[in-house]
Amino acid sequence: MKMERAVLSFSPDAIRKPVTYLLVSNYKLRLNILRAKVMPGEEGRLLLELSGEEDRIREGLAYLSSLNVRISEVKSFYKVDYSKCTESKKCFQVCPADAIELRPGSEQPVDIIEDNCILCEKCKEVCPSGVFTFTF
Ligand code: SF4
Repeated sequence: MKMERAVLSFSPDAIRKPVTYLLVSNYKLRLNILRAKVMPGEEGRLLLELSGEEDRIREGLAYLSSLNVRISEVKSFYKVDYSKCTESKKCFQVCPADAIELRPGSEQPVDIIEDNCILCEKCKEVCPSGVFTFTF
């Protein structure tokens, strides 16, 4: 059993396709939707956690690619500007997913742990220095 996270991006046309259903029914994957953004007429996004046989995950994602669903890593949706960090630790205090790593006094005093991040943007909301940028 393997677990993998991926962000799926759909064109407005592809939003009508039952992609999560297809992953469950055709590839026997278990899905956990961690974040979703779906608006009429706009590109839709889903942050998914997929669990199942490694081959099935690979085949399922390949199938989605064939439907013009773009598959991206979580880290491609955030940026951390280490040079702006004043070590307020506010991000660490609000993160609901244990996804903030602090390294006090170092050149990169704060970072995001990609495997934990759910792209909720709470760290960005509380940061007084504009360290975090998100493009989900
Ligand atoms: S977006 Fe920020 S607050 Fe939200 S899970 Fe990721 S690191 Fe934590």
